[in-house]
Amino acid sequence: MNCRMCDSINLHKFLDLGFMPPADQFRRKDQLHESDTYYPLQVMMYEDCGLAQLSYRVFPEVLYRNDYPYESSTTKVGQQHWSEFDGSVVKRFGFGPKDLVVDIGSNVGVLLGAFRNKGMQVQGVDPAANIVMIAQANGINTICDFFNEDSARKIVEEKGYASVITGTNVFAHVNLDGFMLREV
Ligand SMILES: [Zn+2]
Repeated sequence: MNCRMCDSINLHKFLDLGFMPPADQFRRKDQLHESDTYYPLQVMMYEDCGLAQLSYRVFPEVLYRNDYPYESSTTKVGQQHWSEFDGSVVKRFGFGPKDLVVDIGSNVGVLLGAFRNKGMQVQGVDPAANIVMIAQANGINTICDFFNEDSARKIVEEKGYASVITGTNVFAHVNLDGFMLREV
């Protein structure tokens, strides 16, 4: 019932889509007879901080640990966008070979690959093992884990503090506890 960012209980439901199976999970032909698990899909608005979020949280292990199918390399427009984005960030802030970029939910490493090609240090974090294997094969050093206090500390210990932290379409997917730190 509490907002995952500010802990407020001042909420109202504004969209109820009933019960749905998780997105991004596709079946092979031989799996079609298997049953789907359905979860409530209701969107709540928390009045105090304005953050919209789902009422029911599916375990992230269910969503990302089991053959996650989306690869960011499959979209040409995306690849071009990230390359231009990286170019503008490097130019605007004058980053060089000592600067570290950490990408949260780095997928197969398309965004980081563009930063690396511009001479920066890169570190990915992504929970999907099958996706991380592809990233590693692309030469993008990637921690196979959720981004949280533990993985953040690991990165700081091994590589120091990041000059840039990126996350593309990440807030919509993460568990905000441990991702956003609450001010107390
Ligand atoms: Zn809130």
